[in-house]
This record gives sequence, structure tokens and C-alpha cells, in this order.
Amino acid sequence: MGLATALAVRARLPSASILVLERGLLASGATGRNAGFACFGSLTELLSDVDSVGWDATLALVERRFRGSQALLARVGAQDAGYEHTGGWELIEPHTVGVLDRLEEVERALRPVLGAGAVLLDDARIGEFGFSRARVPHLVSLRREGALDSGRLMRTLLKACGAADITVWTGADVKAIASEGDHVRVEVGDLSLRAKHVAVCTNAFTRALLPDLEVTPGRGQVLVTDPVPGLAFRGVFHLDEGFVYFREVDGRVLLGGGRNLDFAGEATAELLTTERIQAYLDDLLRDVILPGQSVSVSHRWAGIMAFGPNKAPIVRTVSPGVAVGVRMGGMGVALGSGVAEELADLIVGSGRL
Ligand SMILES: Cc1cc2nc3c(=O)[nH]c(=O)nc-3n(C[C@H](O)[C@H](O)[C@H](O)COP(=O)(O)OP(=O)(O)OC[C@H]3O[C@@H](n4cnc5c(N)ncnc54)[C@H](O)[C@@H]3O)c2cc1C
Repeated sequence: MGLATALAVRARLPSASILVLERGLLASGATGRNAGFACFGSLTELLSDVDSVGWDATLALVERRFRGSQALLARVGAQDAGYEHTGGWELIEPHTVGVLDRLEEVERALRPVLGAGAVLLDDARIGEFGFSRARVPHLVSLRREGALDSGRLMRTLLKACGAADITVWTGADVKAIASEGDHVRVEVGDLSLRAKHVAVCTNAFTRALLPDLEVTPGRGQVLVTDPVPGLAFRGVFHLDEGFVYFREVDGRVLLGGGRNLDFAGEATAELLTTERIQAYLDDLLRDVILPGQSVSVSHRWAGIMAFGPNKAPIVRTVSPGVAVGVRMGGMGVALGSGVAEELADLIVGSGRL
């Protein structure tokens, strides 16, 4: 978000002096640790959202995710994002088959945003992909989805910032931000900087700087297997209202999720994996995704997402010269570039620059 916002501001203000401050070595938040899905919401996730906030708010968010992905690909190009239009699927488990009664309703509702056929029953591919038929009686295709390479995207954004004369400082831990008349004071290390405008893009870590914002961290845990000989699927896959997700990466399986097993315990910014959630992911791998295969795990990690009372991001001015673009609700890959454009409009529209 920080890099995308800097680029969006540069596109509007060719001669502004722009500095990005990142406390990590590179991006040390969710961006360097995610699954890289360009996704808009699976059938069970969308229905859960519709039941809690209604169709209008749900479709508005789907549209924001879709437009955000389009904005990202338009800005950096599919190749430099490592993007592939693989399509996505949701595995429907026995206890959720009732959602299929509403498949047509969802497909119709999504047409104005994603076009016809964005969600369709695709049971024929269950066997082809090799999933457990007992645990996955149905499969729903989400054909507008794709996958990108988060590391490559980050490198591309950094390169674009360099080319756009945007300075990036890493190891720059911002301790405080304060609006003071016509400028904003930013305390970083032993420096006190002055800016005409600041964009805060700290997602899950925002409350350390702006404690009044409703942003709660939510940890996402991931495992990656060793290469799986003859792996039968490509694409992005969802399970259980989007709480579980997996994909193929270089012949391996990347599998993440399970935050819903322990919402309270996972509402943390601690970058640790836990035995309980990793064991749950191991079980899913063995029993549902790769039944009958013995596969070893080569990597396990955690990243921190940001949530709130609803799934909409916060994009607004919080004090003179300070605007935020935070709380990506676990879908910042899809949302981020669109939110960056909104944030850049706010900053430029403030008239301070
Ligand atoms: C395991 C996992 C899987 C995910 N999968 C997907 C997916 O498939 N698709 C999708 O759309 N989204 C996914 N997400 C969510 C997505 O990664 C995030 O929504 C997105 O990366 C958020 O980007 P951001 O720039 O807003 O936040 P971040 O990437 O977290 O960046 C915030 C940055 O602010 C820095 N920072 C914080 N405080 C300070 C400070 N005081 N001073 C200086 N710097 C500071 C941090 O170091 C960090 O680098 C996933 C997230 C996780 C954790």
C-alpha cells in the first residue's frame, strides 16, 4: 500500500518530493507473506457477507477488489506481477452443500461486476484435481480469479518507485506523527521530519500510531510443502468461507488459514506459528487436498492481516495533512491498488501540496 500510494501520488504530482518509510528490511507486514490470490470472495464467503451486511455492501466490496486487481495489473503489467489467470475454485464440504441452493442467486448478482458465469458448479474437476471425494462432494469454479507472485510484485513496485524518483528508506521505524499547522511532524529514529502530507499505510500495525482507529490484527498462518510429484491442480482454491486457501507454487502446495479455529488467539501481531493451527493445516493437506499421498512440509510462517467491524478498508483523513489507507481485511493484494488511488485522490484533493 505504501509503495502503490507513492506511485499513485507521483502520477498526479510529477514534481512532489515523496519519501516512503518502512521499518522492516523490506516489506515486513502481510505483503511479503501472503498467498498472492487475486480473488473477490468465494461462494460461502459471499453468502456469509450477504447474510451479515446485505447484497449492496457485499457487491460494493467485490467491485472494489476486482477494480483493485485491474488497477494493479494496469499499473505494473501481468508479467511483472507474476500474474497468471489460472481461475479459482471453492471446495464445498458435506456440511455446507446447502449453499448450492443459492448458487444461481449469487451468479446473477455478480453479473454486473464480474460478468456472466463468474461462479459455476464444476464437479467434473474434483477427480482431475485429486481431492478427497468424501470430503469434497462439490466444486464451484470462480473463473475470474488468478494468482500472482508477491515477491516479484514487491520488486517491481520498488523498481517503479526508483524510476519515479520516489525515495524509499527501510529500517525507518516511525514513532509518532503529529499535525502542526501547515505541516506534519514525523518522528523516525533520531530524526524529526516535516512533510506537507503523510499517508499512513501500516495496516495491522496502525494502532501503535493512531490508537483511535478500529483496526484489529489477525494472524494468518501458512505452510508450504516440498515439491509434490505429479501435482494435479493449478489455480487458487478456497474452503470454508475463505478461512482456508491453497494454491500450487512451483510444483509445491501453499496452504494457509485456520484463523477461525481460534479468533481470540489469532488476533495478534506476533509473527509466530502455533501447533494447533499448523496441525489443522497438516490434516487438511493429508485428508482433503492430497489424500493418499505422503508429502513433507518445507516452510511454515505467519503474517499479520488487519480486520475491523466490517470488511471495508478505512480510507480517510484523520487529522490535517494525515490520511490513512488501512484495514485490508485479508484481501489487500486485490484491494490495495484501488485503495492507493483513492488515498492519492484524498491527499492531492487536500490542497496542501
Ligand atoms: C498469510 C496471508 C495470506 C494472505 N493472502 C492474501 C491473498 O491471497 N490475497 C489478498 O488479496 N490478500 C492476502 N492477504 C492479505 C494481504 O497480504 C494484505 O491485505 C496486504 O498485503 C496489506 O498490505 P499493506 O501494505 O496494507 O500492509 P502490510 O503489507 O502489512 O504493510 C504495512 C507495512 O507497514 C510497516 N510499518 C508498520 N508500522 C510501521 C512504523 N511505525 N514505521 C514504519 N513502518 C511501519 C510494516 O513493517 C509493513 O511492512 C494475506 C495475508 C496473509 C498474512
